[in-house]
Amino acid sequence: MAVRTRQEVSARFVQELRQRVAPERVYTDWAVLQSYGYDGTAGYRALPQVVVLPERTEEVVAVARLCYEEGVPITPRGAGTNLSGGTIPVEAGVVIGFSRMQRIHHIDLANQTAQAEPGVITDRFHQAVEAQGLFYPPDPSSQSVSTLGGNVAENAGGLRGLKYGVTRDYVLGMEAVLADGTVLSVGGETLKNVAGYSVTQLLTGSEGTLALFTRLVLRLVPKPADRRSFLAFYNDLSAAAQTVPTLIAGGVLPATLEIMDQITLQCVEEYAHLGLPTDSAALLLIEVDGQPAQVQAEAAQVEAVLQKQPHITEWHAARDEQERDRAWAARRAALAALSRRRPTTVIEDATVPRRQLPEMFKQIHRVAQQYQLPIGTFGHAGDGNLHPTILCDLRDADEVRRVEAAVDALFHAALALGGTLSGEHGIGLAKNRFLHLQLGEAGVQLQRRIKEVFDPKGLLNPGKALGVIP
Ligand SMILES: Cc1cc2nc3c(=O)[nH]c(=O)nc-3n(C[C@H](O)[C@H](O)[C@H](O)COP(=O)(O)OP(=O)(O)OC[C@H]3O[C@@H](n4cnc5c(N)ncnc54)[C@H](O)[C@@H]3O)c2cc1C
Repeated sequence: MAVRTRQEVSARFVQELRQRVAPERVYTDWAVLQSYGYDGTAGYRALPQVVVLPERTEEVVAVARLCYEEGVPITPRGAGTNLSGGTIPVEAGVVIGFSRMQRIHHIDLANQTAQAEPGVITDRFHQAVEAQGLFYPPDPSSQSVSTLGGNVAENAGGLRGLKYGVTRDYVLGMEAVLADGTVLSVGGETLKNVAGYSVTQLLTGSEGTLALFTRLVLRLVPKPADRRSFLAFYNDLSAAAQTVPTLIAGGVLPATLEIMDQITLQCVEEYAHLGLPTDSAALLLIEVDGQPAQVQAEAAQVEAVLQKQPHITEWHAARDEQERDRAWAARRAALAALSRRRPTTVIEDATVPRRQLPEMFKQIHRVAQQYQLPIGTFGHAGDGNLHPTILCDLRDADEVRRVEAAVDALFHAALALGGTLSGEHGIGLAKNRFLHLQLGEAGVQLQRRIKEVFDPKGLLNPGKALGVIP
């Protein structure tokens, strides 16, 4: 990928940065720049000119001000696990890494809120709030590495999205630094807040293009007291997909309702050796949670539905916590397991209304056949959010052409079914050229006008999420 460096940053600029932030946290050495030149997305790479790791809001302000004065682009970065090229510094400049801003300021039991810095690892935050009997539902499969800031910037979903919603549903407010260094405080600790436009909600999911988050105010809920998991194996993928709307139409709202197709199941088994029946066409993983009486009632409803489903070859409730944990660990490892098959893994995020799941699976199958590409599909079926994952080799020019055509076809199929380009991974760089298909020219123009208000010089995460008007 070509880097459109706006201008070389000068030695004086770097010197100035070292005075404003601690010199040992401003990097220009080649090895460090290399590490910040890629993220979780296959096929994208571009090096920044400087990497800065601030520890406090004042340091973020100082970097933003200097970059604003000098017209230097900034790419914010959490753990770099995003799957849309969101942290590739396509215009070089400065990467601000938030990995040193890791403080959990406080967890408020009575208010059921917490305040934390953006670099806190999601899993560490889960553990901290759960130790107090509280619960923070957003749980992307990358939670052991991803950061809260990255989750908020991508409006990340996760396995518990069906019942509990996505990250946006838990962001009450934040402190954020604008492109010119202004510190903005939006939202707050109240559950209700209708003073002014909902800037908190706008910044959530803004993919680093509008502001740099330095403190997050997050809503918590009571930790569920009980839970029960089920595994259901099918000899027909479409039948597994059809169980999803059937279950929900029947009045059960599982915390989690995940699907894996046969390729994914086989890769997971090769990777984790769990004894999964790899001749199955699909696996549904279902979990209900809540108070014990509620869990018991919902589990009975799930059992009643599963008993009646055609094409189920085997189903059972997880026999104990160990089996439950193994099943969920396997699901979280799906992408890693698939990525062992071929040199490159291109994961997509097309999402459709859940009643369209069987049709979307048909479309994925059609695309795989048409372009002769192995596609393993897994995802948050309860949300209609599938991850068709193309297993390929981007060193092969012919395969690159087929992958691009396949991706194009998958997006068109999802949109034709009333779906969206992205359920949770964001637009970033990878889906930028498709955005107008969903938003239309007027929608893309509106987003650009909003961007100009926040970032008139276009310095924050340039090249991402704002679409291309053909
Ligand atoms: C194995 C695997 C599984 C995954 N599973 C899921 C899943 O289940 N659900 C899901 O939604 N995603 C998933 N993802 C994608 C990814 O983990 C999420 O998008 C996550 O939210 C990214 O967090 P991060 O800290 O790595 O952010 P990064 O990748 O570093 O950054 C993501 C975006 O946030 C911006 N950003 C980061 N920090 C800040 C800040 N402080 N202020 C402003 N902008 C900022 C960046 O500029 C970028 O646009 C998965 C990824 C992998 C590799």
